[in-house]
Amino acid sequence: RKAQLLKYKDQPMVTKDSHRVALLANVGCLSEIGHLSDAGADGIGLFRTEFMLMNASEMPTEEVQYRLYCDALQLLDGKTFTIRTLDIGADKELPCLSLPPEDNPALGFRGARYSLAHPELLKVQLKAVLRAANHGQIRLMFPMVNQVEELDKIFDIIEECKTELVDEERGYGDLSYGIVIETPAAVLNLSSMLPRLDFISIGTNDLTQYTMAADRTNPALTKAYPSLSPAILTLIKMTINTAKPAGVPISLCGELATNPNVAGILVGMGLDELSVSPSSLLELKSSLCNHTLATYQKWSQQALSIQRLDELNDYVSHCY
Ligand code: PEP
Ligand code: MG
Repeated sequence: RKAQLLKYKDQPMVTKDSHRVALLANVGCLSEIGHLSDAGADGIGLFRTEFMLMNASEMPTEEVQYRLYCDALQLLDGKTFTIRTLDIGADKELPCLSLPPEDNPALGFRGARYSLAHPELLKVQLKAVLRAANHGQIRLMFPMVNQVEELDKIFDIIEECKTELVDEERGYGDLSYGIVIETPAAVLNLSSMLPRLDFISIGTNDLTQYTMAADRTNPALTKAYPSLSPAILTLIKMTINTAKPAGVPISLCGELATNPNVAGILVGMGLDELSVSPSSLLELKSSLCNHTLATYQKWSQQALSIQRLDELNDYVSHCY
């Protein structure tokens, strides 16, 4: 099976009728990036940069981060590179940061909220990314953004970083900017944020957690945390309906896209890119190329018309 899958490695992902969908990888470190061409990836759809902090005794300096991003660009050799700024807090334990304990960490001080409360940490990362962008195209996205005021503050900080880089005579490159859509508020507030964004990426792991109000890390809640549900499909549809007319490309970087039938439904709904763990990529490619876009559109219409969770999951396991 593995040998069979390898033939898809260097083929671009297209449906049977040649509709192109980018298949990207979710990664957390440089060594995974080195193996991406074997996995058949069009690049990186999510680089979880907080992973570099997990075993670190102190926060990596701007220089260390700059070199990491430059090394990644070199390994990727022109393929898509999407960096997510530090998604600190919630389930991620980071010994170098001594985070204050919280009663409800998933509802607490995390992602963009944490970054905006600690601009000194965000600035180190932003400056490293802005400098690395001199050496290749980088897309930068922000986790857990709920509303446009947060985005305004982030862009003010980016301007500060650019000014400092010019003063320091180090320069910077152009970036594409996006957010991870991972709360219902982000879906509902999307139209006000789109004018500032070059792309968006739907993070279904957290979007599911915050839509169902079910802790994604609690094994007792697997029923309350369904990976696919009518509610999630509706939120994805709303996101697409808002972003497509504005011409903003839409990616999805949650585990949801790992299931090939679900991926077909997502392609049929109009997603431009799917980003999954590298080990799932070839399987996904080998499956998605078997049908036409019209077939996937039919699947998605059918899936969106189903209101019951059990019926939806039954449909998804039989729709090919
Ligand atoms: C998500 O929330 O769907 C996501 C891709 O990010 P993470 O799993 O790192 O929270
Ligand atoms: Mg997330």
